[in-house]
Amino acid sequence: MTSGAGPADLVLVGGSVMTINPVRPAATAVAVRGGRIVAVGAEREVAALAGSRTRRIDLRGRTLLPGFIDAHCHPVMAGVDLMRCPLHELSPTIETYVDAIHTYAEANPALDWVLGNGWYMAAFPGGTPMRQDLDRAVADRPALFINRDGHGAWANTRAFEVAGITAATPDPADGRIERDEHGEPSGTLHEGAVELVHRLVPEPTIDEIAEGLGLAQAYLHRLGITAWQDAWVTPPWLAGYRSFAESGRLTARVVACQWWERNQGEAQIEGFVEERARSSIGRLEATTIKIMTDGVAENFTASMLEPYLDAHGHSTGNRGIDFVDPELLKGFVTKLDVQGFQVHFHALGDRAVRQALDAVEAARRANGMTDMRPHVAHLQVVDPAEWPRFRALDAGANIEPYWACNDDQMTDLTLPFLPPKRGALQYPIASMQRAGARLVGGSDWTVSTPNVMAEVEVAVTRISPEKRDESPFLPREAIDLETALRAFTMGSAWANHRDATTGSIEVGKLADLVVLDRDITRERANRLGDARVLLTLTEGEPVHEDAALEMA
Ligand SMILES: [Zn+2]
Repeated sequence: MTSGAGPADLVLVGGSVMTINPVRPAATAVAVRGGRIVAVGAEREVAALAGSRTRRIDLRGRTLLPGFIDAHCHPVMAGVDLMRCPLHELSPTIETYVDAIHTYAEANPALDWVLGNGWYMAAFPGGTPMRQDLDRAVADRPALFINRDGHGAWANTRAFEVAGITAATPDPADGRIERDEHGEPSGTLHEGAVELVHRLVPEPTIDEIAEGLGLAQAYLHRLGITAWQDAWVTPPWLAGYRSFAESGRLTARVVACQWWERNQGEAQIEGFVEERARSSIGRLEATTIKIMTDGVAENFTASMLEPYLDAHGHSTGNRGIDFVDPELLKGFVTKLDVQGFQVHFHALGDRAVRQALDAVEAARRANGMTDMRPHVAHLQVVDPAEWPRFRALDAGANIEPYWACNDDQMTDLTLPFLPPKRGALQYPIASMQRAGARLVGGSDWTVSTPNVMAEVEVAVTRISPEKRDESPFLPREAIDLETALRAFTMGSAWANHRDATTGSIEVGKLADLVVLDRDITRERANRLGDARVLLTLTEGEPVHEDAALEMA
């Protein structure tokens, strides 16, 4: 299939092209002109479009896909993290962390605070790091390092001094200060106690936020990601996005989710409308509202239909927390829908998922089937009664498949505390899909890796790429490769209201494309996550290119 006249800017030939277009699922060649796809087919079909100035890339059998779209991630926060001292990708040991922090602190002598994030609890005895270890890395200035899941922090002695935290400081209502045998702070702060130190840390400036976005965007482009939905943006962060987009640096397509403040009610909607109006800049939009309806299962705050168990398997009576009253939620979602906002729910527990869908149903009843495309993210425990509702309500099932495996989080912190029947309803991705749910793919970066091919590997195998000899977790809920890739392309394009122009390789669509280093249709399922991205294009322009692309 071809369209228009004139030579192409780029032809990609000899590939294993997965179009994610059911009408023509496979091809070997694609031509691009003026930022759009102008031909998809066999090499002879695009050859006629190649002129003397056309760049020709021989794919040598490698896979060409639509650009990946991450429908739940946190790049604006990740970007600021990347400018500090990130620990995420280091091998998780105390000495590695101390060395990295020391090097960073030495290289940045002008910083008043040494800040970072991404440490892994399992690197420390009992999961609680000591201030003395951090003092070895930096002693002259306060240092504060947030852990990988964002629920705790590691501080040095100087940080406790400037915050005035001593043995006499009580724990806050919503957190805990880890202490030594004398009651002195030992180095770890849990949940709300992090704020006792964090409130002293200077807020990032708009310029810093924009600079961080540049780092986050480059990181995501290296992984083949050409668009995303940023799942948590407050007004200062959105100002950073605007500055970044206004200066012409935004090469990804972004839908920013404005953050629903749980204690503010519908009065905040007016502000959302204003922010949306001023934030449509280039590839940026702020057309979605993120509502967090519950917490997480590991600390028993995910909202459940049945109570959590204690360590002996007895019911605790605790069913988690509804962050938003379910009756009020119906009214909020109905109002947002009228205002033309998409709602992106955070819901992990089966009760939270039900309440989110009940709210969508209330909006549908009041407003009819608008095109607002509400979607529910995380979907850890989902009751079978909800599976067909996604289709009936035209709500997206936003899956983070990287979590659907037997990792420590699952085997040590989750399964023992759920009634077995509920534990067996976790991440029911295949069941939801069979019931007609539209799958939308996300990572929750920086909570987990934004590497889409690693996420796809878990979706297909239900085994973590970090522990490939583990047994699969509820393997009947595995989905096939094509279905998983569709979630991270067309599915997420739908969630971003960009499915008419992106998400598949079709003539007339924007040339947001990704080339992998191998033919993934021939790769073993438990090696899919090893695939690397050699080329990422936004509207036909390379935003990441690896030298290996042109090598035989
Ligand atoms: Zn998130």
